[in-house]
Amino acid sequence: MRVLIIVVAALATLGLAAFGVVAAQRAVQPANAVVAEQAVKPAVAVAAPPVSEKLAQPSIQAAVVAPAATAPTPAAAAAAPAAAAEPTRLAQNSAAPNAPATAGAALANATPPGSRAAANNAPACDKPGAMGLARVVQIDTTGGPAFGFEHFKQYDFLREHEVVLTFDDGPWPENTPAVLKALADQCLKATFFEIGEHATWHPEISKMVAAAGMTIGSHTWSHKDLARNPYASDIEQAKQEIEMGVSAVHAAVDGPIAPFFRFPDLQQPPVLLAYLAQRNIATFSTDIDSFDFKMRRPEQVIKSVMSKLEKRGKGIVLMHDFQHATAEALPELLRQLQAAGFKVVHMVPKAPVTTIAKYDDMLRAQDKMSANNTRPESSVVRTISGN
Ligand SMILES: [Zn+2]
Repeated sequence: MRVLIIVVAALATLGLAAFGVVAAQRAVQPANAVVAEQAVKPAVAVAAPPVSEKLAQPSIQAAVVAPAATAPTPAAAAAAPAAAAEPTRLAQNSAAPNAPATAGAALANATPPGSRAAANNAPACDKPGAMGLARVVQIDTTGGPAFGFEHFKQYDFLREHEVVLTFDDGPWPENTPAVLKALADQCLKATFFEIGEHATWHPEISKMVAAAGMTIGSHTWSHKDLARNPYASDIEQAKQEIEMGVSAVHAAVDGPIAPFFRFPDLQQPPVLLAYLAQRNIATFSTDIDSFDFKMRRPEQVIKSVMSKLEKRGKGIVLMHDFQHATAEALPELLRQLQAAGFKVVHMVPKAPVTTIAKYDDMLRAQDKMSANNTRPESSVVRTISGN
């Protein structure tokens, strides 16, 4: 009898131990999966100051932010063995110059998970001395996650000295193309939260933003403060303001846009955050608000962004491609960011936004007013005297 009890006790102990091992393996799996995806340390092309490296993120974050997959580059392939030896080291910095361009692959909206090769996840940059992207992160917008420490403190995906550049209120003639040029000169990409109405006025600029590989989200139809009436007391009107914006930007781009949204004036009523959750649209507040809309001189914009970043050390930066001073400031601002050791991270969505037919129809109804205006402007209006 005693022998039997000892045998049963021993078996029970072994069983518990085995269960413990299995449970422990399960518990670490999500974090492992994230680190494995980010395991490559690519060849460093541009000399950069050291950054503190962050290890595995909490698993809740893993569900939302994952690096975007790209096709492998020779530089990344060469770096792969080193990565295997340093499984917790995360990707940083850009690929070697002259590596095949992978921007298209990096920005693909729905890359099949199986294609995730051990690869550098930042597109190549062929401009000597340019900043280049440090990382591309993919955002899974399921359930409408919200970002930006000014209001939402759960997802802290940036490392020290990393910034995400965001631009609101475009598309706008001259200023938006100037912002695109400054970004292209540094091989950088950013996120643009466009106003629906502006996109209907300047669809060619929205298309230019998309063609440059930028991420495009929306910023309502006509930039109304949705925390005020009539929107605060009438959710249908508020939804229409959000959805007409999504439909209009989508139509202007004439292709996929991101399920990324920013509220005008960062006024974010809880009931609308709940609505965006149902729509699987992510909300972006900000970490660093430049307040560039109050500034007339480019030096003020540069000083505002740099001083706030130096204090916070990293963050999602809110600026306006609509603003002339910002467009003018950007080349010098990017130079100062580089000189101060900041690195730019680009956000891409895991899947594009879906529009709602009812609001697509409303948008088309709006457009009936201009049904005569189908010929290109250059064939309708021509300068015949003067410059
Ligand atoms: Zn705005």
